[in-house]
Order: sequence, then C-alpha cells, then structure tokens
Amino acid sequence: MLTDAFEVIDKRFTQYAMPNVHLETLYSGTRWAEGPAYFPAGKYLIWSDIPNDRLLRYDETNGVVSEFLKPCRNHNGHTVDREGRLVACEHRGRCVSRIEANGSTTILADRFEGKRLNSPNDLVVKSDGSIWFTDPTYGIDSEYEGDKAEAEIDGSYVYRIDGVTGAITAVITDMVKPNGLAFSPDESLLYVADTGATHVEDGPRHIRTFNVKSDDTLSGGALFATSDNGLFDGFRVDVHGNIWTSAGDGVHCYTPEGDLIGKILTGETVANVEFGGIKRNRLFICATTTLRAVYLNTQAALRP
Ligand code: MG
Repeated sequence: MLTDAFEVIDKRFTQYAMPNVHLETLYSGTRWAEGPAYFPAGKYLIWSDIPNDRLLRYDETNGVVSEFLKPCRNHNGHTVDREGRLVACEHRGRCVSRIEANGSTTILADRFEGKRLNSPNDLVVKSDGSIWFTDPTYGIDSEYEGDKAEAEIDGSYVYRIDGVTGAITAVITDMVKPNGLAFSPDESLLYVADTGATHVEDGPRHIRTFNVKSDDTLSGGALFATSDNGLFDGFRVDVHGNIWTSAGDGVHCYTPEGDLIGKILTGETVANVEFGGIKRNRLFICATTTLRAVYLNTQAALRP
C-alpha cells in the first residue's frame, strides 16, 4: 500500500512511489524554506530560511539540524558545483557567490552591463562548469526576503556565467519572473519555471523547455507544463528525465513528455526539492515551515 502522501494520477507513477514509505518531517520552524543542496561527501543538506536570514544544515548521519550561517544575506537557491563547493543565490547580496574550500566567499556575478542584478533566485551548474541562474525581483520587492530596492535592470532574465572566463550573458529575456531551472540528464534541454503570476494577473505559472545548442546558446522555449495548484518554483530532474517540481499542494511529478503522473502531498506550499542520500534516491522537500524527505524508486540525474 502506498501511504497517504502519494497521489497517483497515472499508473506510471507507481514505479517510482514505493509501498509503506512515509513522508518524514525532518525539521519544523522555518518561515520560508528554500534552496536545498545535498553534499554527498559530507552526507548533509544545506537549505535556506530566507526571511530569517539564515542557512540550516541537516546532518544525515545523526538527524541533527543546526544553523550553518546567520546572517547570510538572505540566500535563496543553492547548488553544489563539480568541485563540491556550495554556490549560492543571495537576495540581499544581489549576487551569485561561492564558498571556497578554505571557507572564504567569492562573488561570481553581481552586475550585468554595469547594472546591479535584481535578486538571484535559483541556479544550476552545467558539466562544462558554467553556472546558469534566474534573476527575478522577489528579493527587492519587500524587506521580508532582502532589502527593498528599485530594480536597475529593465526585466527579469536568465543568465549564464562562463565557467572559464566568468563572463556573464543574458540567455533568456522574455520571461516575467524566471525562477527554478534544471537541465535534462543529457543537458540537451533546459527547463525554466516562470512564476510571473505573482506580479501579473493571469500571468505565467508554468515551466518552459529550451534547446541547448553546442555553444550554450538557446532556442525554442515551448510550454512544458502549467501548474494546476499554486506555482512551480524550484525543481529537480531524475535519471529517467522526470521533473519533480514544487507546487502549491506538494511535489508534482511530470514525465519528459510533460504528463503529470503523480504528486507527493505535503499540506504546505513547496518551494524547492533536492535529491540526496548516498544513493541519490531520497527527495528532500522545502515546504514553507518544514523540511521533509521521502525515499523514491528513482535517483537524481548525474551530470554527463
Ligand atoms: Mg525559487
């Protein structure tokens, strides 16, 4: 029997949801949980509590949660790069930064064509070392998740930081509020969520698909899926190319063809997810006030 947390919409979902597996609550007490990043070498997860201006750390070896960094300039999204370093989107810092092996912090991007970024939201590292991030205005819209400020850039774009030169280019400029993003397992596709419905009536609440060319420029941008509950914020892709995305009622699972086949119901709005565990088969879920986790019969996609 599947436990109550799983909602099967299409029977294909049952190959990933296992009987008698429970959705666990690992921590409670955040205001807006975001930015999960799992470190296999240390068996721990870092995530953001944006309004409380802190990072938390879940130690998978003993279940202990501790404050990892406070204040933290209101970090939002995180990822782990190919060298095992934490790469962060900072709302209050209005930058993308990296914590080095010696503990120091390097700013990787804080301006585009001389103007300050809005408030980087989420990011992903490609196999060539390039860093792709979204830059909506949520961190400068109010004092709640950063410092309220006027935008300097006339739009919310998706950017690419070159892994060799550090040069920053705008790769998507036609979204309202680009948010979560991830590559397909072979990196031929880039999925990007647009949460523009927060600012525009009947605005975007969907994920689009872009084709990634060999020179890392993009084409396409077709609609992949529209949320039937809340907004798609952050998401991750598994080895089969399924998209496990945040939504208003939990986590939604989409096949590579864009079919919604199942949900993991949390009872709280989910902002982001991350695969972890030493077998990459444990899905960590940032659900507003809580950190949840559930084992699945699938694994995180590995970079090529
Ligand atoms: Mg986000």
